[in-house]
Amino acid sequence: MIPAPPGCPAKIPRNLAEGPRRCTCIRHWQGCSCAGMVQSMRRLTRTKIVSTIGPASSSEERLAQLFEAGVDVFRLNFSHGTHAEHEQRFRTIRSLEERFERPIGVLADMQGPKLRVGTFAEGRVTLPMDATFRLDLRDEVGDKSRVMLPHPEIFAALAPGAVLLLDDGKLRLEVTGCGSDYADTRVLVGGTLSDHKGVNLPNVRLDISPLTAKDRVDLAFALDLGVTFVGLSFVQRPEDLVEARGLIGNRARILAKLEKPAAIQHLGRIVELSDAIMVARGDLGVEMPTEDVPVLQRRIVRACRRAGKPVIVATQMLESMIQSPTPTRAEASDVANAVYEGVDAVMLSAETAAGAYPVEAVTIMERIIMRAERDPAYHRTLHVEETVPEATEADALTAAARRAAETISASAIVTYTSSGDTTLRAARERPTVPILALTTEHAVARSLTLSWGVHPVFAGPSRSFREMIGAAEQRAVAEGFAEPGSRLVFLAGFPVGSTVNTVRISEVK
Ligand code: PEP
Repeated sequence: MIPAPPGCPAKIPRNLAEGPRRCTCIRHWQGCSCAGMVQSMRRLTRTKIVSTIGPASSSEERLAQLFEAGVDVFRLNFSHGTHAEHEQRFRTIRSLEERFERPIGVLADMQGPKLRVGTFAEGRVTLPMDATFRLDLRDEVGDKSRVMLPHPEIFAALAPGAVLLLDDGKLRLEVTGCGSDYADTRVLVGGTLSDHKGVNLPNVRLDISPLTAKDRVDLAFALDLGVTFVGLSFVQRPEDLVEARGLIGNRARILAKLEKPAAIQHLGRIVELSDAIMVARGDLGVEMPTEDVPVLQRRIVRACRRAGKPVIVATQMLESMIQSPTPTRAEASDVANAVYEGVDAVMLSAETAAGAYPVEAVTIMERIIMRAERDPAYHRTLHVEETVPEATEADALTAAARRAAETISASAIVTYTSSGDTTLRAARERPTVPILALTTEHAVARSLTLSWGVHPVFAGPSRSFREMIGAAEQRAVAEGFAEPGSRLVFLAGFPVGSTVNTVRISEVK
């Protein structure tokens, strides 16, 4: 008997598949002395969770708790924090991957041409209604009379009467006088304004590039770290994606954040040119009337599901949990409604980055997802709008695999994937059975952590089709998807290495 290696996950994580399994440790799963002692690290939900990391969630223990509670992808928000902080968080996440032997996605979210105020001596100020407040180019910490706004292009475009919205529209200022390097304003709607909060000018057209100088530096840094996804903020035109692809190549997946009205006008093409999409409801709801946001959310989700591109619904999902250990009923409904729409992932922002209850927020989000997905009406609701296969061999095979798996109540669809493309097409089908994706590429396994219903697994190479099936059966058992006698539906390329061309049903020995 091979002894269990140090770090073998010999503890039972919460919220994972129930019942004893064989050890999932990749090196020792056959003949390991802990066989039968360790539970599979298989999530019980299909919809994924993205969690933003910040001061409330940076320690190794806290990140481990968040992962165990249900996080699939961690988001490094480059609007905040230093490179050293991001690097330390990134390295901690990679060490958790080793500890839990599960791929974990990392999203590096670029600030983009987001207009933000500078910092305050006290970190924040409270601006009462009717107060006067100046925004200027002076590179000095702010107070209750002024703050830096380091964007000369704003001052160039302002005129008295223009309205500025701050902190996702929570505060509203009206310009009373302005020059090339300042604007004096009157507070129409007051509140607390803290460091680096966003500024939107709904009716002012600004001529700014989608990738700022800061983004380019952050992007190079994030790519060197080896992040899975790069989030592009304030995408407006298809050309923005072409430009980003030129810089990023295939070093990371490109996630376009939809938050500008202009992007909606080019929705189809932007979805086509992106690897994934985020419905960034914070800025979207500031740039567009609030009542448009739910309608746009559905439109974007439908477009992504039709295209087979992973889509995240983000912002204010459990906002009250920044301060409270329980969410409001409306927030619970918001998360559940996104699940019923069939989104790939839901996201937490300040709830996990800076809130008082980060682990509770993930735990409750996972519970809401699980409850909705267990509703007998869930799968019917998912398919209210049929996702018609495209006229390609890949879609013909993935649609056939879904039909076969559901007909025989297979335990899982198993994809053997080198690029992740076949798995994305299988996820597009939203089958009732889980998708076990085996890949020899760490980057591909990580990229699939965002996709609905996919359990990605890093696997060694197979020399033959028979070996591929054998290895996949072993992993399906080890990961808790199957047991001897279960049936699996395989989607693979034969000979090994070719694009998918085979659907095969096999009974696990
Ligand atoms: C948003 O606006 O909803 C969003 C996710 O972007 P950020 O948090 O970067 O402002």
